[in-house]
Amino acid sequence: MFGPPGSGKGTYASRLSVKLGVPHISTGDLVREEIKNQTEMGKRINDYSSRGLLVPDNVICQLLQKRISQPDCARGFILDGFPRTIPQAQELEKISTTDLVINLRVPDTVIIERLESRLTCRSCGSIYNERFLKPRIAGRCDKCDGQLYQREDDHPNVIQQRLELYRKQTQPLLEYYLRKNQVRNISNNETHVPPEKVVEEIINMIQAERN
Ligand code: AMP
Repeated sequence: MFGPPGSGKGTYASRLSVKLGVPHISTGDLVREEIKNQTEMGKRINDYSSRGLLVPDNVICQLLQKRISQPDCARGFILDGFPRTIPQAQELEKISTTDLVINLRVPDTVIIERLESRLTCRSCGSIYNERFLKPRIAGRCDKCDGQLYQREDDHPNVIQQRLELYRKQTQPLLEYYLRKNQVRNISNNETHVPPEKVVEEIINMIQAERN
């Protein structure tokens, strides 16, 4: 899943994971897990993550490699938030293959509105929105009853920085995948389109590739 922060990568990937029966791997979740568990790596990367900066390529590749070597990834997986740089894409090629890059195109105005009101579950990482995708019980996760919070990097001053970083460091990656003819676009100009509708569109795209 490719696209700027707040474009819906995690929201759609988690639903696609259920429908396709393959794990959803969010490198952002892997990073937050290391930080929460206060591992040696977590301590090193906390500063990057809270400021909206990219964690060094070698560290994130190490985290990804560890995750995809788990048995549940044997039949494939959905990547969310990885790769974000050309060296990461090159590393991914060494350890796995990519079938399709779903590129989520969303205007900045919509992204900022979404991220400012985004809520994340502290326990399972599920994503909600205070205004557009409310949990059944305020402040609690529908799936695991975990506590919902606003991510440190979803604050307005950090959002702008993350968007700039995306344009500079991550968007050039599209060229890389365009050359491989693996990019399929999903455009979404409104603040809230029901996720199920977009997920259906993505599944249709995947099926069209299989035929
Ligand atoms: P995300 O949840 O995808 O927005 O990721 C949250 C934070 O984790 C990012 O702002 C980065 O600090 C770090 N991160 C996640 N994925 C990557 C990646 N592929 N490369 C570098 N840093 C990453």
